[in-house]
Amino acid sequence: MKNDYDVVVVGGGIHGASVAQAVAACGKSILLLEQNSMASGTSSRSSKLIHGGLRYLETAQFSLVRECLTERSLLLKNAPELVRLMPFYFPLYDTTSRRPWQIRAGLSLYSILGGFGTGSRFKSIPRHQWNQLDGLDVNGLQKVFQYYDAQTDDAALTRAVIQSAIQLGAEVKVPAAVTEIKLEDKGSQLSYQENEGGLQHCKAKVVVNAAGPWINKVLDRVQPQVPRLDVELIQGTHILIDHKVQQGIYYIESPIDHRAVFVMPWEGKTLIGTTETLYKGDPADVMPLDEEKQYLFKTALHYFPELTGKEIVDAFAGLRVLPLGAGSAFTRPRDVIFLPDRPGHPRIVTIYGGKLTAYRKTAEKLLLSLKSTLDISGDCKETRAIPLYPVEE
Ligand SMILES: Cc1cc2nc3c(=O)[nH]c(=O)nc-3n(C[C@H](O)[C@H](O)[C@H](O)COP(=O)(O)OP(=O)(O)OC[C@H]3O[C@@H](n4cnc5c(N)ncnc54)[C@H](O)[C@@H]3O)c2cc1C
Repeated sequence: MKNDYDVVVVGGGIHGASVAQAVAACGKSILLLEQNSMASGTSSRSSKLIHGGLRYLETAQFSLVRECLTERSLLLKNAPELVRLMPFYFPLYDTTSRRPWQIRAGLSLYSILGGFGTGSRFKSIPRHQWNQLDGLDVNGLQKVFQYYDAQTDDAALTRAVIQSAIQLGAEVKVPAAVTEIKLEDKGSQLSYQENEGGLQHCKAKVVVNAAGPWINKVLDRVQPQVPRLDVELIQGTHILIDHKVQQGIYYIESPIDHRAVFVMPWEGKTLIGTTETLYKGDPADVMPLDEEKQYLFKTALHYFPELTGKEIVDAFAGLRVLPLGAGSAFTRPRDVIFLPDRPGHPRIVTIYGGKLTAYRKTAEKLLLSLKSTLDISGDCKETRAIPLYPVEE
């Protein structure tokens, strides 16, 4: 059996999946190792939005927004069974911190950055239609803007990308936990634990550390030690309410702290998220906190009085990886960062942060940085044109 690969990827979340797809699309050998099950980390616990991120305009992250909107268009074309355009509603009250002109300006810029493509129209909902908005409170309501973004099933999308990688020739082992990475002059030796096969070994020209919140734990297993970034893990919780909003996704401002919160239809119920709570424990143990659940429920109830008495039937929490920096987690840049162990010909590259929406572009950029190490001559299949289909769990 083969045990010498061009690339070994650690982690079967959206980034591991997309790197596997991109590498295999260039005809290079690739093994992906996932310790639990595919998308069992952050990639099944996101807000499930394929979006440019309207709020990133406030922190001037224009290139990130443009890139995400381009990826949104590609996904709507390549994965229509997995990614769906949805109406988003932005209600503005006399107490909302943003003013209607600011939202209009933001949405105009969002359309421009989206290249006026699919889903870049927006409008203001006439007052006589406000009663069709899932019982949205109209007291003090000044304006409701409606624009478009997209929704997906994050875990299903990850599985579809992995399936595409496998069809292109990638090998995948699950569960398989990487326990040791020894760096050599050219490349590395890895050890990983399989449930049935016991301890296994393989070699890689390059290891891609796509272990999400576990990235620095994976780096602890690398010999000799390599540089790392100090990060914070920021917990984001969602709650699921036994009641369905019908019309689309609502972008509301929490009356408690003015943060943006989404209220979304999800599998016949309503999903509400998210929070930003500093997390210091083991990534495997992250759990929604009672105060987060109450915060989300109170925020939604403030705008949707009909939720009174409804039950929280489920809740989940995911972890964002944010490099340490100034300011609150909410305003810190969301760009992905690649950290190689050395310039030129890296033996291991770690992926810090990133967005579900931009996963394909992230993998494309990573591969570009490895072009000479992997001796990629240019005849790669374009991932931007590869269709994706739902696969069974
Ligand atoms: C609350 C929240 C909401 C979000 N909402 C959105 C959104 O709506 N839209 C958007 O675009 N982005 C969103 N994001 C960002 C996006 O979800 C993440 O950037 C993305 O899912 C990260 O994927 P990943 O592959 O890097 O990590 P993960 O999905 O966490 O995958 C890492 C994998 O590595 C595995 N692993 C770890 N250690 C080992 C080891 N030693 N050996 C083998 N495998 C290992 C883990 O089991 C895990 O499956 C959100 C993030 C959060 C936290």
